[in-house]
Amino acid sequence: MSNTEVAHEYVPWRWVKYWHCVRCGKCCIKFLVPLYPHEALYYIMKYGPVVEERNGKFYLRSKPDGSCVFLERTPLGYRCSIYLERPIVCRCYPFYVTDKPLGVVDSRDEDAVYVYRSPLGKSIKVYVYIDKVCSGIGRGIPLEIIIPKIVSEWITVLRLYRIHRDLRLYST
Ligand code: SF4
Ligand code: SF4
Repeated sequence: MSNTEVAHEYVPWRWVKYWHCVRCGKCCIKFLVPLYPHEALYYIMKYGPVVEERNGKFYLRSKPDGSCVFLERTPLGYRCSIYLERPIVCRCYPFYVTDKPLGVVDSRDEDAVYVYRSPLGKSIKVYVYIDKVCSGIGRGIPLEIIIPKIVSEWITVLRLYRIHRDLRLYST
């Protein structure tokens, strides 16, 4: 799903060795940004009509050129105007974390498995993919160092979502 119809190309994280964001801005221009309901609620309350609903799902609005409503262009390059509170999908990109396999080519989802060890010693099995469309693939930091942080953030936001859902602050 995207603003200008560029498709994601997710592959298991083990197929890539390094990654570093080169701030090309592509992910803020080419893709719609899906939101958890509690994220949508937060942005609407803080920033007004910056969220749209499509088929019961929430996304950040796009500007007429297709880029994210929060993307700014500066003399030094692109900048996210809500960087410190950007949605979890942006915090994780180009990684995609899920508790179910995506069913990628050749049934190689086992290469996407990551077992996260929580600070309390609990093991949580997730699947982590990386989008080959990202310009930063193949350079920078080894994925073994990045993945635990990404998964930890994802688990935190997922827990927050479940707390909101269980409190029935919204229905899904
Ligand atoms: S596409 Fe990749 S390299 Fe470019 S801004 Fe997004 S995360 Fe960074
Ligand atoms: S919220 Fe920020 S990081 Fe996410 S797509 Fe928009 S500008 Fe990019």
